[in-house]
Amino acid sequence: MEKIKELADYCLNCKVKPCQKGCPLGNDIPEFIKNVKEGNFEQAYKVLSKTTVLEPICGRICPHISQCIGKCVRGIKSHPVSIGELEAFVGDMAIKNSYSMDEEGVQAIKNTYSMDEEDVQAIKNTYNMNEEDVQSIKNNRKRVAVVGSGPAGLTCSAFLARSGVEVTIYEKYNKLGGILRHGIPDFRLDKHILDSTINTIIKLGINVEYNAELGVNITLEQLVKSYDAVFIAIGANVPWKMGIEGEELLGVFGGNSLLEKNNHPNYAGKNIAVIGGGNVAMDSARTINKMGAKSVTVIYRRAEEQMPAERKEIEDAKNEGVNFLFQTNVVKILGEGKVDKIECVKTMLIQREGETRLSPVNVKGSNFNMDMDYVVMAIGSMPEEKVINSLGLECDSKGYIKVDENYETSMKNVFAGGDIAGTKATVAWAARTGRNVAEYIIANI
Ligand code: SF4
Repeated sequence: MEKIKELADYCLNCKVKPCQKGCPLGNDIPEFIKNVKEGNFEQAYKVLSKTTVLEPICGRICPHISQCIGKCVRGIKSHPVSIGELEAFVGDMAIKNSYSMDEEGVQAIKNTYSMDEEDVQAIKNTYNMNEEDVQSIKNNRKRVAVVGSGPAGLTCSAFLARSGVEVTIYEKYNKLGGILRHGIPDFRLDKHILDSTINTIIKLGINVEYNAELGVNITLEQLVKSYDAVFIAIGANVPWKMGIEGEELLGVFGGNSLLEKNNHPNYAGKNIAVIGGGNVAMDSARTINKMGAKSVTVIYRRAEEQMPAERKEIEDAKNEGVNFLFQTNVVKILGEGKVDKIECVKTMLIQREGETRLSPVNVKGSNFNMDMDYVVMAIGSMPEEKVINSLGLECDSKGYIKVDENYETSMKNVFAGGDIAGTKATVAWAARTGRNVAEYIIANI
Protein backbone atom coordinates (compact mmCIF):
# COMPACT_ATOMS: atom_id res chain seq x y z
CA MET A 1 0.00 0.00 0.00
CA GLU A 2 2.92 2.35 0.81
CA LYS A 3 4.26 1.82 -2.69
CA ILE A 4 0.87 2.52 -4.30
CA LYS A 5 0.55 5.74 -2.31
CA GLU A 6 4.03 6.76 -3.41
CA LEU A 7 3.17 6.05 -7.07
CA ALA A 8 -0.07 8.03 -6.83
CA ASP A 9 1.56 10.96 -4.98
CA TYR A 10 4.04 11.29 -7.84
CA CYS A 11 1.19 12.28 -10.22
CA LEU A 12 0.72 16.03 -10.71
CA ASN A 13 -3.02 15.75 -11.52
CA CYS A 14 -2.47 17.91 -14.59
CA LYS A 15 -5.48 19.99 -15.55
CA VAL A 16 -5.00 19.40 -19.31
CA LYS A 17 -4.84 15.61 -18.79
CA PRO A 18 -2.34 14.63 -21.52
CA CYS A 19 -2.30 11.04 -20.25
CA GLN A 20 -6.06 10.74 -20.80
CA LYS A 21 -5.57 11.79 -24.43
CA GLY A 22 -3.08 8.94 -24.85
CA CYS A 23 -5.52 6.35 -23.50
CA PRO A 24 -7.57 4.69 -26.28
CA LEU A 25 -10.45 4.35 -23.83
CA GLY A 26 -10.15 7.95 -22.65
CA ASN A 27 -9.89 6.93 -18.98
CA ASP A 28 -9.89 9.93 -16.63
CA ILE A 29 -6.43 9.12 -15.32
CA PRO A 30 -5.74 12.23 -13.19
CA GLU A 31 -9.12 11.86 -11.47
CA PHE A 32 -8.76 8.17 -10.63
CA ILE A 33 -5.20 8.72 -9.38
CA LYS A 34 -6.41 11.64 -7.24
CA ASN A 35 -8.86 9.26 -5.57
CA VAL A 36 -6.13 6.68 -5.04
CA LYS A 37 -4.00 9.39 -3.39
CA GLU A 38 -6.85 10.14 -1.02
CA GLY A 39 -7.41 6.48 -0.26
CA ASN A 40 -10.85 6.47 -1.98
CA PHE A 41 -10.27 3.28 -3.92
CA GLU A 42 -13.94 2.56 -4.55
CA GLN A 43 -14.41 6.04 -6.01
CA ALA A 44 -11.26 5.55 -8.11
CA TYR A 45 -12.91 2.39 -9.49
CA LYS A 46 -16.12 4.26 -10.25
CA VAL A 47 -14.15 6.89 -12.18
CA LEU A 48 -12.45 4.19 -14.27
CA SER A 49 -15.69 2.26 -14.71
CA LYS A 50 -17.19 5.13 -16.66
CA THR A 51 -14.93 4.23 -19.57
CA THR A 52 -13.61 0.70 -19.01
CA VAL A 53 -14.44 -2.67 -17.46
CA LEU A 54 -11.00 -4.21 -17.98
CA GLU A 55 -8.93 -2.36 -15.36
CA PRO A 56 -7.02 -5.37 -13.96
CA ILE A 57 -6.18 -6.50 -17.51
CA CYS A 58 -5.37 -3.19 -19.22
CA GLY A 59 -3.38 -2.15 -16.16
CA ARG A 60 -1.12 -5.14 -16.78
CA ILE A 61 -0.89 -5.69 -20.53
CA CYS A 62 -1.57 -2.41 -22.35
CA PRO A 63 1.41 -0.98 -24.23
CA HIS A 64 1.37 2.00 -21.86
CA ILE A 65 4.53 3.52 -23.26
CA SER A 66 2.86 4.10 -26.61
CA GLN A 67 -0.40 5.14 -24.96
CA CYS A 68 -1.04 6.99 -21.66
CA ILE A 69 2.43 6.77 -20.10
CA GLY A 70 4.03 8.01 -23.30
CA LYS A 71 2.08 11.25 -22.85
CA CYS A 72 2.75 11.73 -19.12
CA VAL A 73 4.44 15.11 -18.49
CA ARG A 74 6.47 13.58 -15.68
CA GLY A 75 8.24 11.58 -18.38
CA ILE A 76 9.73 14.70 -19.99
CA LYS A 77 12.36 15.29 -17.33
CA SER A 78 12.22 12.08 -15.36
CA HIS A 79 10.32 8.76 -15.28
CA PRO A 80 6.58 8.89 -16.00
CA VAL A 81 3.81 7.97 -13.55
CA SER A 82 3.20 4.19 -13.34
CA ILE A 83 -0.37 4.51 -14.60
CA GLY A 84 -0.75 0.83 -15.46
CA GLU A 85 0.29 -0.33 -12.01
CA LEU A 86 -2.18 2.05 -10.39
CA GLU A 87 -4.99 0.97 -12.69
CA ALA A 88 -4.30 -2.71 -12.00
CA PHE A 89 -4.28 -1.97 -8.25
CA VAL A 90 -7.70 -0.32 -8.43
CA GLY A 91 -9.08 -3.18 -10.54
CA ASP A 92 -7.74 -5.75 -8.08
CA MET A 93 -9.22 -3.84 -5.12
CA ALA A 94 -12.60 -3.80 -6.87
CA ILE A 95 -12.54 -7.58 -7.32
CA LYS A 96 -11.37 -8.18 -3.76
CA ASN A 97 -13.98 -5.90 -2.24
CA SER A 98 -16.80 -6.47 -4.77
CA TYR A 99 -17.12 -2.79 -5.62
CA SER A 100 -20.06 -2.04 -7.89
CA MET A 101 -19.20 -0.42 -11.23
CA ASP A 102 -22.61 1.24 -11.47
CA GLU A 103 -23.60 4.64 -10.17
CA GLU A 104 -26.19 4.52 -7.42
CA GLY A 105 -29.69 4.11 -8.81
CA VAL A 106 -28.64 2.62 -12.16
CA GLN A 107 -28.45 -0.85 -10.65
CA ALA A 108 -31.85 -0.44 -9.05
CA ILE A 109 -33.56 0.52 -12.31
CA LYS A 110 -31.75 -2.25 -14.16
CA ASN A 111 -32.92 -4.80 -11.64
CA THR A 112 -36.52 -4.16 -12.58
CA TYR A 113 -35.95 -6.77 -15.29
CA SER A 114 -35.35 -9.64 -12.94
CA MET A 115 -36.55 -8.58 -9.54
CA ASP A 116 -38.95 -10.43 -7.30
CA GLU A 117 -42.20 -8.91 -6.01
CA GLU A 118 -40.69 -7.43 -2.89
CA ASP A 119 -38.05 -5.65 -4.94
CA VAL A 120 -40.65 -4.44 -7.44
CA GLN A 121 -42.48 -2.80 -4.58
CA ALA A 122 -39.34 -1.18 -3.25
CA ILE A 123 -38.37 0.17 -6.68
CA LYS A 124 -41.88 1.45 -7.36
CA ASN A 125 -41.80 3.32 -4.07
CA THR A 126 -38.29 4.69 -4.51
CA TYR A 127 -38.75 5.85 -8.09
CA ASN A 128 -42.43 6.62 -7.90
CA MET A 129 -43.29 4.08 -10.59
CA ASN A 130 -46.62 2.45 -11.22
CA GLU A 131 -47.16 -1.08 -12.58
CA GLU A 132 -47.34 0.24 -16.13
CA ASP A 133 -43.90 1.88 -15.84
CA VAL A 134 -42.35 -1.36 -14.65
CA GLN A 135 -44.05 -3.37 -17.41
CA SER A 136 -43.05 -0.86 -20.03
CA ILE A 137 -39.40 -1.14 -18.99
CA LYS A 138 -39.67 -4.91 -19.12
CA ASN A 139 -41.40 -4.98 -22.51
CA ASN A 140 -39.09 -2.51 -24.16
CA ARG A 141 -35.95 -4.23 -23.10
CA LYS A 142 -33.51 -4.47 -25.98
CA ARG A 143 -31.89 -7.80 -26.76
CA VAL A 144 -28.40 -7.96 -28.22
CA ALA A 145 -26.22 -10.88 -29.30
CA VAL A 146 -22.48 -10.40 -28.88
CA VAL A 147 -20.36 -12.89 -30.80
CA GLY A 148 -16.91 -13.35 -29.29
CA SER A 149 -15.69 -12.64 -25.78
CA GLY A 150 -12.35 -10.91 -26.22
CA PRO A 151 -11.81 -7.30 -25.11
CA ALA A 152 -14.30 -5.87 -27.63
CA GLY A 153 -17.05 -8.42 -26.89
CA LEU A 154 -16.67 -8.25 -23.11
CA THR A 155 -16.62 -4.46 -23.03
CA CYS A 156 -19.61 -4.11 -25.34
CA SER A 157 -21.57 -6.68 -23.29
CA ALA A 158 -20.77 -4.96 -20.00
CA PHE A 159 -21.76 -1.47 -21.14
CA LEU A 160 -24.98 -2.80 -22.68
CA ALA A 161 -25.89 -4.83 -19.59
CA ARG A 162 -25.21 -1.86 -17.34
CA SER A 163 -27.84 0.04 -19.30
CA GLY A 164 -30.42 -2.68 -18.90
CA VAL A 165 -30.01 -4.36 -22.28
CA GLU A 166 -30.42 -8.14 -22.28
CA VAL A 167 -27.13 -9.48 -23.61
CA THR A 168 -26.17 -12.96 -24.73
CA ILE A 169 -22.54 -13.71 -25.52
CA TYR A 170 -21.83 -16.46 -28.06
CA GLU A 171 -18.37 -17.94 -27.50
CA LYS A 172 -16.77 -20.64 -29.64
CA TYR A 173 -14.74 -22.16 -26.80
CA ASN A 174 -15.95 -23.38 -23.41
CA LYS A 175 -14.38 -20.41 -21.61
CA LEU A 176 -14.67 -16.67 -22.13
CA GLY A 177 -11.80 -14.31 -22.84
CA GLY A 178 -10.98 -14.70 -26.55
CA ILE A 179 -7.51 -13.36 -27.32
CA LEU A 180 -7.03 -12.48 -23.62
CA ARG A 181 -7.22 -16.20 -22.79
CA HIS A 182 -5.88 -17.77 -25.97
CA GLY A 183 -3.40 -15.20 -27.22
CA ILE A 184 -1.66 -13.77 -24.17
CA PRO A 185 0.58 -16.15 -22.24
CA ASP A 186 0.18 -16.68 -18.48
CA PHE A 187 3.47 -14.94 -17.68
CA ARG A 188 1.96 -11.70 -19.03
CA LEU A 189 -1.59 -12.14 -17.77
CA ASP A 190 -2.39 -14.47 -14.89
CA LYS A 191 -5.53 -16.42 -15.78
CA HIS A 192 -6.91 -15.90 -12.25
CA ILE A 193 -6.96 -12.17 -12.92
CA LEU A 194 -8.69 -12.77 -16.23
CA ASP A 195 -11.27 -15.11 -14.66
CA SER A 196 -12.05 -12.66 -11.85
CA THR A 197 -12.48 -9.78 -14.29
CA ILE A 198 -14.78 -11.85 -16.50
CA ASN A 199 -16.82 -12.96 -13.46
CA THR A 200 -17.40 -9.34 -12.50
CA ILE A 201 -18.67 -8.64 -16.01
CA ILE A 202 -20.88 -11.73 -16.28
CA LYS A 203 -22.40 -10.98 -12.89
CA LEU A 204 -23.99 -7.91 -14.50
CA GLY A 205 -26.61 -10.41 -15.69
CA ILE A 206 -25.14 -11.44 -19.04
CA ASN A 207 -26.19 -14.75 -20.63
CA VAL A 208 -23.53 -16.94 -22.19
CA GLU A 209 -23.76 -19.64 -24.86
CA TYR A 210 -20.52 -21.63 -24.92
CA ASN A 211 -19.23 -23.76 -27.82
CA ALA A 212 -21.22 -21.60 -30.22
CA GLU A 213 -19.24 -20.69 -33.31
CA LEU A 214 -20.47 -18.28 -35.94
CA GLY A 215 -20.65 -19.93 -39.35
CA VAL A 216 -20.32 -23.38 -37.77
CA ASN A 217 -23.20 -24.07 -35.38
CA ILE A 218 -24.85 -20.65 -35.32
CA THR A 219 -25.59 -18.41 -38.28
CA LEU A 220 -25.79 -14.66 -38.55
CA GLU A 221 -29.26 -15.08 -40.02
CA GLN A 222 -30.50 -16.81 -36.83
CA LEU A 223 -29.04 -14.10 -34.63
CA VAL A 224 -30.47 -11.27 -36.73
CA LYS A 225 -33.92 -12.86 -36.47
CA SER A 226 -33.72 -13.31 -32.69
CA TYR A 227 -32.10 -10.07 -31.52
CA ASP A 228 -32.51 -6.32 -31.96
CA ALA A 229 -28.81 -6.01 -32.76
CA VAL A 230 -25.76 -8.21 -33.24
CA PHE A 231 -22.16 -7.29 -32.46
CA ILE A 232 -19.49 -9.41 -34.15
CA ALA A 233 -16.18 -9.37 -32.29
CA ILE A 234 -14.60 -12.68 -33.24
CA GLY A 235 -11.05 -11.40 -33.74
CA ALA A 236 -8.73 -12.17 -36.63
CA ASN A 237 -6.33 -14.87 -35.65
CA VAL A 238 -5.26 -16.67 -38.83
CA PRO A 239 -1.50 -16.13 -39.25
CA TRP A 240 -0.30 -14.34 -42.34
CA LYS A 241 2.06 -16.17 -44.63
CA MET A 242 5.20 -14.64 -46.11
CA GLY A 243 4.73 -16.28 -49.50
CA ILE A 244 8.25 -17.75 -49.51
CA GLU A 245 9.51 -21.15 -50.59
CA GLY A 246 9.31 -23.85 -47.90
CA GLU A 247 6.39 -22.42 -45.91
CA GLU A 248 4.48 -25.68 -46.41
CA LEU A 249 7.21 -27.77 -44.73
CA LEU A 250 6.54 -29.67 -41.53
CA GLY A 251 7.74 -27.58 -38.61
CA VAL A 252 6.41 -24.21 -39.86
CA PHE A 253 3.83 -22.83 -37.44
CA GLY A 254 1.75 -19.70 -37.03
CA GLY A 255 2.51 -17.81 -33.80
CA ASN A 256 -1.16 -16.90 -33.25
CA SER A 257 -2.27 -20.51 -33.70
CA LEU A 258 0.35 -21.85 -31.28
CA LEU A 259 -0.69 -19.36 -28.62
CA GLU A 260 -4.42 -19.83 -29.25
CA LYS A 261 -4.54 -23.61 -29.43
CA ASN A 262 -1.59 -24.29 -27.14
CA ASN A 263 -0.61 -27.16 -29.46
CA HIS A 264 3.15 -26.76 -29.23
CA PRO A 265 5.55 -29.42 -30.45
CA ASN A 266 8.34 -30.62 -28.15
CA TYR A 267 10.96 -27.87 -28.26
CA ALA A 268 13.63 -29.64 -26.19
CA GLY A 269 17.00 -29.51 -27.94
CA LYS A 270 15.55 -27.63 -30.94
CA ASN A 271 16.50 -24.36 -32.64
CA ILE A 272 13.54 -22.14 -33.37
CA ALA A 273 13.24 -19.05 -35.57
CA VAL A 274 10.42 -16.62 -34.78
CA ILE A 275 9.79 -14.23 -37.67
CA GLY A 276 8.24 -10.86 -36.81
CA GLY A 277 8.64 -7.90 -34.50
CA GLY A 278 5.30 -7.40 -32.77
CA ASN A 279 3.88 -8.58 -29.47
CA VAL A 280 2.80 -11.92 -30.94
CA ALA A 281 6.42 -12.53 -31.96
CA MET A 282 7.59 -11.65 -28.44
CA ASP A 283 4.89 -13.76 -26.76
CA SER A 284 5.68 -16.71 -29.05
CA ALA A 285 9.46 -16.42 -28.57
CA ARG A 286 9.23 -16.10 -24.78
CA THR A 287 6.72 -18.94 -24.48
CA ILE A 288 8.86 -21.27 -26.61
CA ASN A 289 12.00 -20.27 -24.74
CA LYS A 290 10.34 -21.06 -21.40
CA MET A 291 9.31 -24.45 -22.81
CA GLY A 292 12.92 -25.57 -23.03
CA ALA A 293 14.07 -24.83 -26.60
CA LYS A 294 17.81 -25.01 -27.24
CA SER A 295 17.74 -21.60 -28.92
CA VAL A 296 15.09 -19.10 -29.95
CA THR A 297 15.97 -16.39 -32.47
CA VAL A 298 13.64 -13.54 -33.34
CA ILE A 299 14.25 -12.39 -36.90
CA TYR A 300 13.04 -8.91 -37.81
CA ARG A 301 13.55 -7.17 -41.13
CA ARG A 302 13.77 -3.63 -39.73
CA ALA A 303 15.91 -2.14 -36.94
CA GLU A 304 15.32 -2.73 -33.23
CA GLU A 305 13.92 0.75 -32.60
CA GLN A 306 11.25 0.12 -35.24
CA MET A 307 9.92 -3.02 -33.60
CA PRO A 308 6.20 -2.61 -32.88
CA ALA A 309 6.42 -4.87 -29.80
CA GLU A 310 6.28 -3.24 -26.41
CA ARG A 311 9.72 -2.19 -25.14
CA LYS A 312 9.32 -4.10 -21.89
CA GLU A 313 8.49 -7.32 -23.75
CA ILE A 314 11.62 -6.97 -25.90
CA GLU A 315 13.79 -6.35 -22.84
CA ASP A 316 12.21 -9.26 -20.96
CA ALA A 317 12.78 -11.55 -23.96
CA LYS A 318 16.44 -10.51 -24.15
CA ASN A 319 16.94 -11.00 -20.42
CA GLU A 320 15.42 -14.46 -20.69
CA GLY A 321 17.93 -15.45 -23.36
CA VAL A 322 15.99 -14.97 -26.61
CA ASN A 323 18.34 -14.01 -29.49
CA PHE A 324 17.54 -11.21 -31.92
CA LEU A 325 18.60 -10.70 -35.52
CA PHE A 326 17.63 -7.25 -36.78
CA GLN A 327 17.62 -6.03 -40.37
CA THR A 328 17.40 -9.61 -41.53
CA ASN A 329 14.85 -11.10 -43.88
CA VAL A 330 14.02 -14.79 -44.24
CA VAL A 331 13.83 -15.59 -47.96
CA LYS A 332 13.56 -19.40 -48.01
CA ILE A 333 12.85 -22.30 -45.67
CA LEU A 334 14.89 -25.35 -46.61
CA GLY A 335 14.44 -29.04 -45.85
CA GLU A 336 13.28 -32.42 -47.15
CA GLY A 337 9.67 -32.60 -46.00
CA LYS A 338 10.49 -30.81 -42.76
CA VAL A 339 12.37 -27.69 -41.72
CA ASP A 340 16.14 -28.06 -41.69
CA LYS A 341 17.52 -24.58 -42.39
CA ILE A 342 16.43 -21.07 -43.22
CA GLU A 343 18.03 -18.82 -45.78
CA CYS A 344 18.33 -15.23 -44.62
CA VAL A 345 19.47 -12.01 -46.20
CA LYS A 346 20.56 -8.77 -44.56
CA THR A 347 18.50 -5.65 -45.23
CA MET A 348 19.21 -1.94 -45.45
CA LEU A 349 16.64 0.66 -44.60
CA ILE A 350 15.62 3.28 -47.09
CA GLN A 351 13.15 6.16 -47.05
CA ARG A 352 10.50 5.69 -49.72
CA GLU A 353 8.47 8.64 -50.92
CA GLY A 354 5.13 8.92 -49.15
CA GLU A 355 6.03 6.39 -46.41
CA THR A 356 6.54 7.37 -42.80
CA ARG A 357 8.57 4.30 -41.80
CA LEU A 358 11.92 3.32 -43.27
CA SER A 359 11.49 0.37 -45.62
CA PRO A 360 13.77 -2.68 -45.59
CA VAL A 361 15.44 -3.67 -48.85
CA ASN A 362 17.42 -6.91 -49.23
CA VAL A 363 21.18 -6.42 -49.60
CA LYS A 364 22.36 -8.35 -52.64
CA GLY A 365 24.86 -11.11 -51.91
CA SER A 366 24.43 -11.00 -48.11
CA ASN A 367 22.57 -14.33 -47.96
CA PHE A 368 23.43 -16.84 -45.25
CA ASN A 369 21.90 -20.03 -43.87
CA MET A 370 20.99 -20.95 -40.30
CA ASP A 371 20.18 -24.43 -38.94
CA MET A 372 16.60 -24.48 -37.65
CA ASP A 373 14.15 -27.16 -36.52
CA TYR A 374 11.02 -25.03 -36.38
CA VAL A 375 9.94 -21.71 -37.87
CA VAL A 376 7.19 -19.63 -36.25
CA MET A 377 5.51 -16.98 -38.40
CA ALA A 378 4.42 -13.99 -36.36
CA ILE A 379 4.11 -11.30 -39.01
CA GLY A 380 0.43 -10.52 -38.56
CA SER A 381 -2.96 -12.14 -38.70
CA MET A 382 -6.14 -11.96 -40.72
CA PRO A 383 -9.79 -13.02 -40.40
CA GLU A 384 -10.78 -16.60 -41.12
CA GLU A 385 -11.96 -16.56 -44.73
CA LYS A 386 -14.46 -19.43 -44.38
CA VAL A 387 -16.25 -17.76 -41.46
CA ILE A 388 -16.22 -14.32 -43.05
CA ASN A 389 -17.61 -15.65 -46.34
CA SER A 390 -20.47 -17.38 -44.51
CA LEU A 391 -21.69 -14.05 -43.09
CA GLY A 392 -22.56 -12.33 -46.37
CA LEU A 393 -21.21 -8.98 -45.14
CA GLU A 394 -19.16 -6.55 -47.20
CA CYS A 395 -15.42 -6.85 -46.54
CA ASP A 396 -12.39 -4.79 -47.51
CA SER A 397 -9.59 -6.05 -49.78
CA LYS A 398 -7.76 -7.63 -46.82
CA GLY A 399 -10.80 -9.62 -45.69
CA TYR A 400 -11.80 -7.44 -42.70
CA ILE A 401 -15.50 -6.66 -42.22
CA LYS A 402 -16.29 -3.18 -43.55
CA VAL A 403 -17.92 -0.88 -41.00
CA ASP A 404 -19.08 2.74 -41.02
CA GLU A 405 -18.24 5.40 -38.41
CA ASN A 406 -20.69 3.73 -35.98
CA TYR A 407 -19.16 0.28 -36.57
CA GLU A 408 -22.29 -0.79 -38.42
CA THR A 409 -21.68 -3.34 -41.18
CA SER A 410 -23.36 -3.55 -44.56
CA MET A 411 -26.30 -5.22 -42.76
CA LYS A 412 -28.57 -3.00 -40.67
CA ASN A 413 -28.19 -3.41 -36.90
CA VAL A 414 -25.25 -5.77 -37.33
CA PHE A 415 -22.05 -4.26 -35.95
CA ALA A 416 -18.44 -5.40 -35.95
CA GLY A 417 -15.47 -4.28 -33.89
CA GLY A 418 -12.02 -5.21 -32.66
CA ASP A 419 -9.58 -7.01 -34.95
CA ILE A 420 -12.29 -8.43 -37.25
CA ALA A 421 -13.04 -4.86 -38.37
CA GLY A 422 -9.33 -4.09 -38.76
CA THR A 423 -9.08 -1.99 -35.59
CA LYS A 424 -5.55 -1.15 -34.42
CA ALA A 425 -4.62 -4.41 -32.76
CA THR A 426 -4.39 -3.51 -29.08
CA VAL A 427 -6.64 -4.61 -26.24
CA ALA A 428 -7.63 -1.05 -25.31
CA TRP A 429 -8.51 -0.10 -28.90
CA ALA A 430 -10.63 -3.23 -29.28
CA ALA A 431 -12.36 -2.45 -25.97
CA ARG A 432 -13.00 1.08 -27.19
CA THR A 433 -14.85 -0.20 -30.27
CA GLY A 434 -16.94 -2.44 -27.99
CA ARG A 435 -17.90 0.51 -25.80
CA ASN A 436 -18.68 2.72 -28.82
CA VAL A 437 -20.96 0.07 -30.27
CA ALA A 438 -22.74 -0.36 -26.93
CA GLU A 439 -23.28 3.40 -26.67
CA TYR A 440 -24.62 3.55 -30.23
CA ILE A 441 -27.03 0.65 -29.68
CA ILE A 442 -28.29 2.14 -26.40
CA ALA A 443 -28.93 5.51 -28.02
CA ASN A 444 -30.23 4.47 -31.42
CA ILE A 445 -31.86 1.04 -31.48
FE1 SF4 B 1 -0.41 12.51 -13.67
FE2 SF4 B 1 1.29 12.18 -15.73
FE3 SF4 B 1 -1.33 12.34 -16.17
FE4 SF4 B 1 -0.01 14.54 -15.39
S1 SF4 B 1 0.27 13.44 -17.31
S2 SF4 B 1 -2.00 13.80 -14.61
S3 SF4 B 1 1.52 13.61 -14.01
S4 SF4 B 1 -0.28 10.73 -15.03
